[in-house]
Order: sequence, then C-alpha cells, then structure tokens
Amino acid sequence: VTPLSAAKASLENITEYNNYINAFVDLADPVKVEDQAKEATQRWELGQPISPIDGALFGYKMNFCTTDLRTTCGSAMLQNFEAPYTATAVDLLQKAGAITGGKVNMDEFGMGSYNVFSDSGPAKNPWNVVGHPIDTIDTMDDRSPGGSSGGSAAAVASKMCFAALGSDTGGSVRLPASYCGVVGFKPSYGRVSRWGLVSYASSLDTVGVLTRSVDDAKIVFDVISQEDPKDSTCLTQEQRHRITESLSLQKTHSQNADKPLSGIRIGVPQEFHVEELSEATVALWKAGIRKLEDAGATVLPVSLPNTNVSVGAYFTIATAEASSNLQKYDGVRYGRKSAEKDTKEALYAHTRSEGFGVEVRRRILLGTYVLTSGSFDNYFLRAQKIRRMVRNDFDNVFSQPNAITGSTGSQGPTRVHALITPCAVTTAPKLSECSGSGTDPITAYLDDILTIPASLAGIPAMSVPFGLSKEDGYPVGLQVMAQYGDEDMVFKVAKVLE
Ligand code: GLN
Repeated sequence: VTPLSAAKASLENITEYNNYINAFVDLADPVKVEDQAKEATQRWELGQPISPIDGALFGYKMNFCTTDLRTTCGSAMLQNFEAPYTATAVDLLQKAGAITGGKVNMDEFGMGSYNVFSDSGPAKNPWNVVGHPIDTIDTMDDRSPGGSSGGSAAAVASKMCFAALGSDTGGSVRLPASYCGVVGFKPSYGRVSRWGLVSYASSLDTVGVLTRSVDDAKIVFDVISQEDPKDSTCLTQEQRHRITESLSLQKTHSQNADKPLSGIRIGVPQEFHVEELSEATVALWKAGIRKLEDAGATVLPVSLPNTNVSVGAYFTIATAEASSNLQKYDGVRYGRKSAEKDTKEALYAHTRSEGFGVEVRRRILLGTYVLTSGSFDNYFLRAQKIRRMVRNDFDNVFSQPNAITGSTGSQGPTRVHALITPCAVTTAPKLSECSGSGTDPITAYLDDILTIPASLAGIPAMSVPFGLSKEDGYPVGLQVMAQYGDEDMVFKVAKVLE
C-alpha cells in the first residue's frame, strides 16, 4: 500500500458509508487529499518519508482547532466557528506529513457517552455495516458508536482514515474504541499538549489516539507526545526525562520472545467486577487474563477500594470545571449570537439557551451548583478528596514510582506493573435506547465506571479490541492501565492482547 492507494480506498469508504455512519461532519477537498497523498508517495519511493505517518489520512474530532475547517465541538453554539489557529497535536501530525481527511462527529463539548448529543446528529456504529451493501442495513438495529469521540472511532473502524484524534476526559476515547472494535489510547495527563483542544474539564482533558492496531497507536503517539510551552500542564522535556529515568530503574526486560511478559505482574482490580457486567464480557476478560499468563505474566487480584465513588467525584469535578470553561460562550466573543440583544443579560441568556443542548445545560447547572458557597465543601472539596484517594489506590498497587504524587512505588510481591479490566459494561447499545427523552442521565453516567478511575488519576489507559460478545456479536474492548508516565508498559501489555 502506498499513501495514494490508501487515501483512495479511504475516500471510497467515505463516499460509500459516511452518509449513513455520519462520522465525518466536515470533509477536506478530496482533490487536495489525493495531491498530498501523491507527494507523500513520491517521498516514500525516494526513501525519504518525513516520518512513519507521512501521507497517512487523519480525522480530527470537532473540538480540535484547525484553521481550514470548522471547529463546532458538536454544538449549535459554534456552528460556524472557524478557529484562528491549529491545535498543537494536529500541527505536529501535519508537520510529520499527516493528511487531514476532515473533522469528525462528537457529543457536544465532549459531554456524553453515545454520540447522541451532537448538533450534527448521531454518528453510527459501523460494525455490521461496512462490507454490506448500504441498502441491506437494518436500521432498527442502529447502534451507537459510543462517545464522546464517536466520530473518531467510527471513522477508523470503517477505514475512512488511518487514524483519528479524540479527546478523553472520563473515557471518551476508550469507550467508543471498545464499542467499535478499534484501539483507543488515552496517554497520561500532560503527555500531549492540550493547546487548541477546546476545554471541557481542564484538569481531566487528554488528547487520545484511535487506530486499528497497537503499533499504529504507538507511532501516532510518538509524533504528538512533545513538550509545548503553550500548555502549562504539558510535561517539559526535563520532566519527561525524569519520569523515564525513575521508571527505568525498575524495568523488567524479558529476553524470551515467546514470553514477552515474563517478570511482569498484572493486577485484576476486584472492584471492576461490577454487577452490570455481562457474562460474555466477563468471559472475554478471563480469556484476556489467560493470554497474558501464556505470555509469561503473573496475574493477581488487587484492590482499588475507591472505584465505586469515582463516578460521583468525576461528575462533580468535570461539571464544575465545565461550568467555568463554558462561560466564555456568551454571544459576545465567539460563535453564536442571539438576535435578542436588547440588554446584555438578554443577549447572554438567549444565546446560551439557543446554543447549548440539553446535556450541556444540565452539566452547567450541576457544575454551577457544586461551586456555590453552600455546597462547595460538601460536593466540590469532597470530590477532590476522593480524587486523591483514587490516585492513592493506584499508587498502592503499582510497583513503579509516580512522578506526580511522589509515591516511590513498592517491590512487594503483591505490587503490579499494569492492570487489566474490561473497558465498557456492555457492548454498543442500540441508538434508540440511548437517545430520546426517556433516557436517564444517571444510567449513562454510570456506564463510565470502568474508564473514570484512570482519568481521575491521570494515568495512561488503552482499550484493545478483544473479540466479540457471545451475546450479540458486537466488539468488546479490554482496558490496560499502568502507572503515571508508563505508556511503554501499556503498549507492551496491549500488544500481547491484540
Ligand atoms: N462520558 C463522560 C462524560 O460525559 C466522558 C466524556 C469524555 O471523556 N469527554 O463526561
């Protein structure tokens, strides 16, 4: 395959399936895409590609700023917004030769788990669609691709592009990856610059990668994992060195190619065995554990006791930060401006009620409430304490040091290098079950229970496709997590599961 033939195949898939799947919301000019792919092909033929991703086609979630297409964040508020600059992660990819295929669908401002809260309509799960003539599809069985990076996962799964960027605040890259049967990687908080990624909850937002293989995720991650003075929370070169050094003190290297995980201990957090997990998912979890053992790993049960309170803490912190981050959409500086502008207050109120969808408004109300003086101590501060407890839980089970919390790690026999869990409680739900007025938001929030702990702790986590559910034939992803900064461990374990 050359970049040109790959780009042509992707463009054909877009033509064939995008009307139905609704992954790409805005598309780049196909003539330009082919021209860029031709140039990249020539560079490869001369043996001079700019990087391993030179000429590869990418989709960018609608909340990454790009100067040449809209950045709507899935919201009516930003329906016509064109950003004046390009996000660092996108910029790094473009400099490495990546071709922009277009911008992809998402839940409004990243709030949601099924991509049903999008101003552009829901994206759909490509499973059981791609490869079949479009007129034979049973729309009664339309499934969600997951969210909020639903467009990213659907575009990659249906081979409309080589890879996509998503954002993961509480699971938004990993959940859709699990539902669509692709790899979804959330790096440690601070690894990839958030500059130009429109904020949802700044202390949790991360740039994530969706691809069809673990190796592809690694090469994309290597391009975007750079220091960036424009994002003060992005790790500096020096901090990166320090993390690598402290982790490598305890690196276990297997010399045995058949047993790539010998010397590695992997934990199974008991609290992730939640009641709602389907039998089929538990069966695949067990199969994953066996596969790790076959590769030489020692697998043992561990405890992360604060898992059950993490969802409440997450939705308190995320909504509080969102209510603050979304204050800037007032009809004055960005995006939509209501016609009702007799007074300043009327302009604000009308702009916001016209521009924000139901879920975003719910979150703003919740977030504003937990920040009011009467509830600050009881909700917001308590949630911060729980966040610290969740992080400590992880430090207590990992043998590696945590460069952020200062935990030095421990070498006891019950300490582990990585964790394995399912990524989602169920397979992709039917779209009819996750949209509409009868849907209960709390049930949706609880669906994030397996992905939220890693987000609160800021640690790297990946969803790896691991077979199909015996119940409905839809993909199931297993989640691999490791200590802060230890992306290498995640890749290594994920590679075995793949
Ligand atoms: N579903 C979660 C939420 O709605 C996660 C979203 C995300 O990671 N952006 O907050």
